Amino acid sequence: MTDIRKAALVVADRAVDADECRLLLDMLGLLGGLAPAAPKRRGRRPVDRGHGDYRTYIKGCRCDACREAHRVHMAARRAVWAADPSAADRAGHGKRSTYRNYHCRCEPCTTANTAGVTAYRARRRDRALAESGGAR
Ligand SMILES: [Zn+2]
Ligand SMILES: [Zn+2]
Repeated sequence: MTDIRKAALVVADRAVDADECRLLLDMLGLLGGLAPAAPKRRGRRPVDRGHGDYRTYIKGCRCDACREAHRVHMAARRAVWAADPSAADRAGHGKRSTYRNYHCRCEPCTTANTAGVTAYRARRRDRALAESGGAR
């Protein structure tokens, strides 16, 4: 039996109830030494990587440092994908994302990208019109 456990038992003997026991142990700094089995948690514990990490961006942070880290990370990923044509096959053709991310220039992907760019420009034009006085 460890000294900590012995001391804890003495405290527990004197304490009125469990709450007081815990309080006394805490005050004596014995609670940590007892180390009751931590409740089991499923899955990976959440990791706080701080700002300036692309994984923090993926979690939802949009601060400048995380944006920049994510941009650099994605540029590196795209370079890897572009160097591997089979990656585009796995991603599937006829998609704008395959054109952009996997650098695929096949006909279906190019068509999808052109349609995407056209829609994007139309959205921007509409927004610019709305901001400059709205539709009349
Ligand atoms: Zn951040
Ligand atoms: Zn393609």
